[in-house]
Amino acid sequence: MKLGLVIDLDVCVGCHACAVACKQWNTSGTLGALTDYAPYGRNPSGVWFNRIRHYEVGDFPHNKTVNMPLSCMHCEDAECVNVCPTGASYKRKEDGIVLIDQDKCMGCNYCAWACPYGARELDRAEGTMKKCTLCIDRIYDQYLPPEERQPACVLTCPAHARHFGDFDNPLSKVSQLVRERGGTTLMPELGYQPTNHYLPPRPTRPIDTSAEKQTSLMHKVKEWVNKLITT
Ligand code: SF4
Ligand code: SF4
Ligand code: SF4
Repeated sequence: MKLGLVIDLDVCVGCHACAVACKQWNTSGTLGALTDYAPYGRNPSGVWFNRIRHYEVGDFPHNKTVNMPLSCMHCEDAECVNVCPTGASYKRKEDGIVLIDQDKCMGCNYCAWACPYGARELDRAEGTMKKCTLCIDRIYDQYLPPEERQPACVLTCPAHARHFGDFDNPLSKVSQLVRERGGTTLMPELGYQPTNHYLPPRPTRPIDTSAEKQTSLMHKVKEWVNKLITT
């Protein structure tokens, strides 16, 4: 098995719900707390497994906002694993999930420097490295109903932009989405072979924001309302 995520950049609205659900699940989950620094202070911050970036791409009037969630890609050739001096970082053979053994991690930061996707964050309170676990404590939980054995971020996304599944199975939803929508990995030229894929945003048609267009639209709406009243 090769488990991972597909994220649809065409429909992600950048609401951060996935990041918050991830933080909530992983703070109360079985793998231990996701540290916050001064949560009620002036500048609250903390460790996150999933962060959403926002980019404005293209030139007006063909510009578009692209919201880009970023978490661990569970790379096939994971450089974070290659550089870890204690063996704390490892990739599971059975499903490809990359994890960190918290008991072996000494917080040296090598893996965070090696990861090209910025997916690892040092927990300064615990002195160990943290990152997305692909919700391993949800997806195999036999006590959860089958439909809930999915990552918290996938279950939460209100736009259904996130999908979870097995990339080794050509019939899985994630494999089909990648095939049908031209899904791609981030920076494949680096050679780490990320498992997570992104579906590209489709080009937008420019919206006519001219005063003439707006006046004509308002006129049409007024006509439509008048018609409603008189019929
Ligand atoms: S995205 Fe970064 S942390 Fe995740 S497996 Fe790849 S190199 Fe490691
Ligand atoms: S799969 Fe789980 S740990 Fe990873 S980003 Fe989603 S909610 Fe967070
Ligand atoms: S919850 Fe869904 S729509 Fe909102 S930021 Fe995350 S992926 Fe995008």
